Amino acid sequence: MNARLVIRKANEEGMIINVGDVEIGGKKIVIIAGPCSVESEEQICEIARAVRRMGADMLRGGAFKPRTSPYSFQGLGEEGLRLLALAREETGLPVVTEVMDTKDVKLVSRYADVLQVGARNMQNFALLKALGKVNKPVLLKRGLWATIEEWLLAAEYIALGGNREIILCERGIRTFEKLTRNTFDVMAIPLVKTMSCLPIIADPSHATGRRDLVIPAAKAAIAAGADGIMVEVHVDPERALSDGAQSLSLTEFKPLMEELRKIAEAVGRCI
Ligand code: PEP
Ligand code: MN
Repeated sequence: MNARLVIRKANEEGMIINVGDVEIGGKKIVIIAGPCSVESEEQICEIARAVRRMGADMLRGGAFKPRTSPYSFQGLGEEGLRLLALAREETGLPVVTEVMDTKDVKLVSRYADVLQVGARNMQNFALLKALGKVNKPVLLKRGLWATIEEWLLAAEYIALGGNREIILCERGIRTFEKLTRNTFDVMAIPLVKTMSCLPIIADPSHATGRRDLVIPAAKAAIAAGADGIMVEVHVDPERALSDGAQSLSLTEFKPLMEELRKIAEAVGRCI
């Protein structure tokens, strides 16, 4: 592979990325929780307060949504970003949100603490290059079709532009299996750890597409060495405007945290 900047040099320590008071890549496992999409002020603020109370470190929520169908909810756009900033003000949780287009990089950077590149944009090279010039961390999701090498080379584009603060996110890949939305490639986590110094987290929600599999997938990720989890949580998953089937309710988020605490401790980490 001809990636250089994101490849681990001999004896190089794993990188730690600071987002406010949150450290990604340290001993503490980072929990990022929130809805798939920002839908309203009440929705995002209620979720933010609840996940904060139960121990989340950061808030997620999409304002610009990459939807398979053009008829599906596309996100609130700038209004969604404003609501995320409001939820951050109320709870102190830093915010992760997706940027889909180079034309929105400046706008999203004004609101977000971490800019997410969605799976479908992993090889949007213009976007990767633009994010190389931003001085905020980037959460780079693995493409649904991407090999680990292609994923690391996508990270290399961002690093080459000057931004070394990249968090990788394994979110499942597309295989012949139909019972899950994607196939969670849990082994990508230790494999990436041996190859790269970048922190890596897992997204058990998109990796499985099924609420009942989110906790087992999240546990497996932490056991495999992930530095964090990004999970979809909703006040009313049945009525969510996107990804309800894979979203945990607020009451289901609590056992997730309890289970993950046990696994974290077993692998010498904490939550
Ligand atoms: C998301 O995080 O809501 C999302 C759209 O994820 P992905 O790009 O991994 O499908
Ligand atoms: Mn989603």
